Amino acid sequence: MKIDENTYRRIVDNLHEGLYFVDTDRVITYWNKAAERISGFSAEEVVGKRCQDNILTHIDANGHQLCMGLCPLAATIQDRELREAEVFLHHKDGHRVPVAVRCSPLTNGDGAVIGGVEIFTDISHREANLLRIKELEELAFLDPLTRLASRAYMEKELAIRLEESRRYGMPFGVLFVDVDHFKTFNDTWGHATGDQVLKVVADTISANGRPFDAFGRWGGEEFLGIIRHTGREGLAVAGERHRRAIAGAYIVRDDEKLTVTVSLGGAVFRPTESAENLVRRADEALYASKRAGRNRLTVAPE
Ligand code: GH3
Ligand code: MG
Ligand code: MG
Repeated sequence: MKIDENTYRRIVDNLHEGLYFVDTDRVITYWNKAAERISGFSAEEVVGKRCQDNILTHIDANGHQLCMGLCPLAATIQDRELREAEVFLHHKDGHRVPVAVRCSPLTNGDGAVIGGVEIFTDISHREANLLRIKELEELAFLDPLTRLASRAYMEKELAIRLEESRRYGMPFGVLFVDVDHFKTFNDTWGHATGDQVLKVVADTISANGRPFDAFGRWGGEEFLGIIRHTGREGLAVAGERHRRAIAGAYIVRDDEKLTVTVSLGGAVFRPTESAENLVRRADEALYASKRAGRNRLTVAPE
């Protein structure tokens, strides 16, 4: 397959990773679209500038500027070694963006070094997630069996959402989830198999949630979800999605598919109520689901 230069350019332009080239004087000769998005600087502003002209200024975790002497790309141009590092970019708006960078030398047909190329990827989301997991583990906010958030974490999260909703009018609701006839399941298949099913229920909840929703283990076989930016209808959609997904999940034991169902109760936050009251209303809706025959969702009136 022969690829013409325009095609190459289009591919490189539209890479998900930021990418730029410099010559041996470290003058930037090319700056792709993702580099514009991640740094805030357009190609026009950057191409023709030297990377130490205070545009890019990579900074290490201690705030030291890397452009003079410690710059990984400059070192790579000198010794031809590939380098990887995690550094901070100076964004055009002033803030720092954590990025993973990878540098390699650019050579001509004779093998002589004519510059360098750096690829960088925004790791701020990764950083945020890692921090969150660390926080959960450090503060015992993680339920060890299901690896969902613990009740303590959910109580803290509820308090934050309550405040957010009161101040900014951000609507949210909670979903109470309880496994149906779980005592019978344990009696039939044993406690260890029951634990295994609880993990499957938790994993199914995690897999079917949206990034802004938080689910945790409230008690034995009970889970609580906080569904943000939603009213009664959105809560019902989320609850139904989880109910159906759990009813469709199973583990296999002795060639038999073992399944459980859950009943759910939902309630949308009323600006004057307490967290306890909100959870109590969701719990009452849950018991309405149980009374009505289980494997169903009830959402309390607004
Ligand atoms: P219902 O449909 O009314 O909810 O019936 P149920 O049997 O689920 O309700 P009940 O509250 O009477 O029983 C809950 C059972 O959940 C009792 C307990 O054995 C079981 N359970 C609670 N925590 C765990 C756990 O961590 N592991 C296992 N295997 N079982 C648990
Ligand atoms: Mg229960
Ligand atoms: Mg139950």
